[in-house]
Amino acid sequence: MTLPATPFRRRLLVPVTAALMLGLPLAAQAEVAFQYDLPAIAPEVASETQEKSGWATERFAVAAANPLATDAGYQVLKAGGSAVDAAVAVQMVLTLVEPQSSGIGGGAFLMHHDGEAVAAYDGRETAPAAVNGELFLDEAGEPLDFMEAAASGLSVGVPGTVRMLELAHAEYGRLPWAELFGPAIRLAEEGFAVSPRLATSLASEQPLRDDPLGSAFYYPDGEPLQAGVTLKNPALAAILREIAERGSQALHEGAIAEDLVARVQGHHSRGGAITAEDLAGYAAKRRDPICTAWQAYEVCGFPPPTSGHLTVMQILGILEHLPEVESPLDDDQGLSEPWLHQFLEASRLAFADRGRYIGDPDFVEAPGGDWSVMLDPDYLALRAGLIGEESLGSGGAEPGNPGELATAWASQPEQPEYGTSHISIVDEHGNALAMTTTIEAAFGSRILADGGTGLAGGYLLNNELTDFSFTPQDEDGQPIANRVEPNKRPRSSMSPTLVFDRESGELVASLGSPGGAAIIHYTAKALVAMLDWGLDAQEALNLPHAITLGGPVFLEEGRFPAETLEALNARGHDASERELVSGLQAIQRTEAGFFGGADPRREGVVMGE
Ligand code: GLU
Repeated sequence: MTLPATPFRRRLLVPVTAALMLGLPLAAQAEVAFQYDLPAIAPEVASETQEKSGWATERFAVAAANPLATDAGYQVLKAGGSAVDAAVAVQMVLTLVEPQSSGIGGGAFLMHHDGEAVAAYDGRETAPAAVNGELFLDEAGEPLDFMEAAASGLSVGVPGTVRMLELAHAEYGRLPWAELFGPAIRLAEEGFAVSPRLATSLASEQPLRDDPLGSAFYYPDGEPLQAGVTLKNPALAAILREIAERGSQALHEGAIAEDLVARVQGHHSRGGAITAEDLAGYAAKRRDPICTAWQAYEVCGFPPPTSGHLTVMQILGILEHLPEVESPLDDDQGLSEPWLHQFLEASRLAFADRGRYIGDPDFVEAPGGDWSVMLDPDYLALRAGLIGEESLGSGGAEPGNPGELATAWASQPEQPEYGTSHISIVDEHGNALAMTTTIEAAFGSRILADGGTGLAGGYLLNNELTDFSFTPQDEDGQPIANRVEPNKRPRSSMSPTLVFDRESGELVASLGSPGGAAIIHYTAKALVAMLDWGLDAQEALNLPHAITLGGPVFLEEGRFPAETLEALNARGHDASERELVSGLQAIQRTEAGFFGGADPRREGVVMGE
């Protein structure tokens, strides 16, 4: 059902803001009902690589990491909902069906285009008020082992996803907030088939088995749930009902919040510092997106606290200053070694700057007072000049000196990151959205919270604070930009991206990916493949991956000929193979409408009409 845009929006905007301030139920604003139908989606047979040929649509499309989540978004769009409406429904279903990656216990970044303006909504988690730079140091002052820190109360940041969606929905929602929870509530109450990917993740997971609620729910009788098993989550259904009725306040204050605080503070290995005040005080933020001219396009991405856009665009910008590689793609759409060499060297240089300069902008000043100096073409030309035929090698790329630096930072050593989910949506009203959402590692902090309901199941709490530097300073006592500080947001790599035609201003694509720091490589390469090499969204996502964070190079296992690896090593790249599981989702505009692609490495699909 399509809504008459103007009158409804006028009615909606004022009351929702007022309702939020007064703590009134948002559902009271509802005038239109959205009816969700349970889909007949069979669980997929395997969690390994799946061949996908892409999806063409005419009016709207949604791409998400799980078919049930995509379907919920599709039904919302079909009912005349906006891209933001669909994102709310998708996120709530993901909390249920892809709990290992994202959810109401985590954080997210959302880029939105309403046909005219681009907006960036920041729902990144924050550190509690009572922590300091020593959060992840042990008694001897040494950094904790990553998993010891992650699977504990120490790592849990104040969640931001629900507040962020609420903020975006207050501006761009067309369907009532409460209705958008229908799909997730119904699936949680009636049950859904555990997906192969969730089953595989549960089977290979250890620390979640030590969590009292997590082990009881996901490991009944001590065994991980199998793919295809019907799972109900009554605790999550009850929590979502509360949030549907009362908005984010239901999560940030009262019984659900108290339960979160108790679980974090009372964690069996290491308790965290989150308080009721931290939860009540969380605010999602609207930030200025960074739009960067590149070739015939305007590439708009999220500013710090994520390093995503700045690092992606440094890589693309540096490549622009290097001699053009004649055949970047080999015959069967592999990547040629000369192009890989350039891409990896550009990555080394970009990651050196990332490690030195980028942190929460409310705490860390941009070099020269403006993040865009890191993308200045003259600066990037200078950086490109450091690239030759031989690799700079592991650890060989030093940070540059963009702009006039007010403060000197030490570089942050690399730390592992995993997990996350990406959503791309275009609606029939001319809105486009790219949202990357995370609880950080697979299963986050491995704390399942039932909201104090006492019912089975619940939602997982993030371990986002391990995205901070574990060490606050380097050996010389120089502070690290991304060190832990009270109320600060940890640096991210998430790169939700919207691309526009520079001349017409029309949307060209929406994309993004999970994958820890490698999100940056996955996104940068997909942009080059779609926009420079002319591949369609699916072909672009099918390409093999190659990454470096400045040290060794990793090539996606089994996707490159031995000669490529040898040639890279001959140049000093220190390359080897490993599994690189991206989860790209992309929608591009075509003459006939849209074309969407979903990563063959995960369960994602695109739906639309
Ligand atoms: N926590 C990471 C970030 O915000 C993402 C983790 C992942 O994608 O695996 O950058």
